[in-house]
Amino acid sequence: MRLHGWGRYPQVEAQQLAPLTVSASRALIGAHRSLLGRGMGRSYGDSALHDCVLNTRYLQHLLAFDASHGSLRCQAGATLDQLLDFLVPRGWFLPVTPGTRFVTVGGAVASDVHGKNHHLHGCFSEYVDELLLGLGDGSLLTCSRSEHAELFHATCGGMGLTGLIVEVALRLTPIRSAYVNQTTFKLANLEDALQGFESQRQRTYSVAWIDCLARGAELGRSLLMVGEHALDGPLQLPRQRRLAVPLDMPAALLTHASMQAFNSLYYRRVHQAEVGRRVDYRRFFYPLDGIGQWNRLYGKRGFLQYQFVIPKAAGLQGMQAILRRIADSRRGSFLAVLKVFGEQNRNPLSFPLEGYSLALDFKYDSGLLALLDELDARVLEHGGRIYLSKDARMSEQTFKRSYPGWEQLQAVRARYGAQGKFISRQAQRLGLE
Ligand SMILES: Cc1cc2nc3c(=O)[nH]c(=O)nc-3n(C[C@H](O)[C@H](O)[C@H](O)COP(=O)(O)OP(=O)(O)OC[C@H]3O[C@@H](n4cnc5c(N)ncnc54)[C@H](O)[C@@H]3O)c2cc1C
Repeated sequence: MRLHGWGRYPQVEAQQLAPLTVSASRALIGAHRSLLGRGMGRSYGDSALHDCVLNTRYLQHLLAFDASHGSLRCQAGATLDQLLDFLVPRGWFLPVTPGTRFVTVGGAVASDVHGKNHHLHGCFSEYVDELLLGLGDGSLLTCSRSEHAELFHATCGGMGLTGLIVEVALRLTPIRSAYVNQTTFKLANLEDALQGFESQRQRTYSVAWIDCLARGAELGRSLLMVGEHALDGPLQLPRQRRLAVPLDMPAALLTHASMQAFNSLYYRRVHQAEVGRRVDYRRFFYPLDGIGQWNRLYGKRGFLQYQFVIPKAAGLQGMQAILRRIADSRRGSFLAVLKVFGEQNRNPLSFPLEGYSLALDFKYDSGLLALLDELDARVLEHGGRIYLSKDARMSEQTFKRSYPGWEQLQAVRARYGAQGKFISRQAQRLGLE
């Protein structure tokens, strides 16, 4: 079958296995020369692609829940959506969540995902107490910070390259409401946006939508949204009605002018310098989940998401240089997302480091890859790196220069029989055979 990630670029022919049980998964691992765990395929590029993938869609059971301490054990194929449906009415929430709830817990661990609270609370793995991992010989092994710690850390953020994540034990965050008190600040340029992040640093959640096509004095104009879980209000939400994009958007509609108009309207829809309101958690954390298959908006040939982080010291200057280059290229995103990150953790391939991160979508066309290579050079120049879960084209050299932990990952893979066994198309491209 044809398989692709959320960006629909690239696409490959692959065999997709979907075992019903853990023992069937173990047998399949043993029987195949090489394979790769796959969740909901919400990574954008080729990190969940290989000739043979093991889809965890049926390994989605909740195994244990402790309502007094807020802990949960589930199979790796459970989705965050499924967990939230169970947890929120009971007064618990995920301590870290990405911008879509349609990802699996296994995928969240393998990408060591970050949310809008990284500056205070770090990555998803910070709240993982234990993993049950399927190794290359089909055996199962438990790992944690105290047991097979190296394997645990290499697996968190390890992009499926250490083994198949089978079960995850998670700690949760208590909430008293399904609603979030959100404040939006309208900021005139990038400097104001970065200052806004700093002045709002004590807020639990923060994220900015940037107009990536604005130029000159307006370069980086943004809407900064900060939020806190409300302290009262219902824990139940009405069912969400989801619209869907019914077909691929014709490429002719995706022009520089249409994107510029969209960005401009988005920025101008907020009239005051500061606006507060209460929104439900789905709207606050997962605004794009309200539109099914929105990845079709970029047309048949797909798109690439480019997400990088650069250290704080180089933040303003580095971001400005990159945004200028993007605006000059006349390519860009409907929406670009800026976040602030806290300290980096000890997982060798985790993406976040202390600084600012920007994510933009680019419609795929033949000239795009050269522009992204150019942006890579600027990101590296400023001491930054590219997020593996969004990547579809970074070079091996760029990867190895910006992720010094890669050798540590390879040593752990060699020790636990994962080299050559758990492999992705991305890993092959990046020299992680
Ligand atoms: C709209 C949108 C918003 C997003 N926002 C964010 C964000 O805010 N922050 C962020 O960090 N990410 C974000 N992402 C990226 C997404 O959270 C990650 O790519 C996540 O890993 C996807 O999970 P998945 O279940 O779809 O995994 P897949 O895409 O199927 O796989 C991703 C990686 O995980 C590995 N994997 C999956 N399951 C297993 C398993 N059981 N065992 C071993 N390896 C496994 C795969 O091999 C692959 O390397 C966003 C994605 C989208 C589409």
